Amino acid sequence: MKARILLIEDNAQNRYLTKFLLEQRGHEILQAETGPQGLEMAAEVRPDLILLDIQLPGMDGHAVAHALKSDPQLNDIPIVAVTSYAMVGDREKCLAAGAEGYIEKPINPESFVTEVERFLLLPHEDSAP
Ligand code: MN
Repeated sequence: MKARILLIEDNAQNRYLTKFLLEQRGHEILQAETGPQGLEMAAEVRPDLILLDIQLPGMDGHAVAHALKSDPQLNDIPIVAVTSYAMVGDREKCLAAGAEGYIEKPINPESFVTEVERFLLLPHEDSAP
């Protein structure tokens, strides 16, 4: 299953690796470097999934997840938080902000794509019959 995935991540190296791994499996990757840019792109392209860095300058990932889930046009898009901010309670904070899933950095190239693809299989309100 080929998907259109929006990656919101401020670190160029992380963007490069994530794009490389997902494109290798045939997915289409769109990239945003900031939360506001990510929200704009999400509304424009309606991706199948959003990979969201939590530590972003300005508007952080929790605020981005909250904004996405507060928008009736966008709240059915699954969000997977990707973060090295592995403090106690951080996972819960991501899920409370509306993320469906959580992947810790550094990402494991062996398992990353499989982990991401699990969230593409979640039921989608507007998926074609
Ligand atoms: Mn970051």
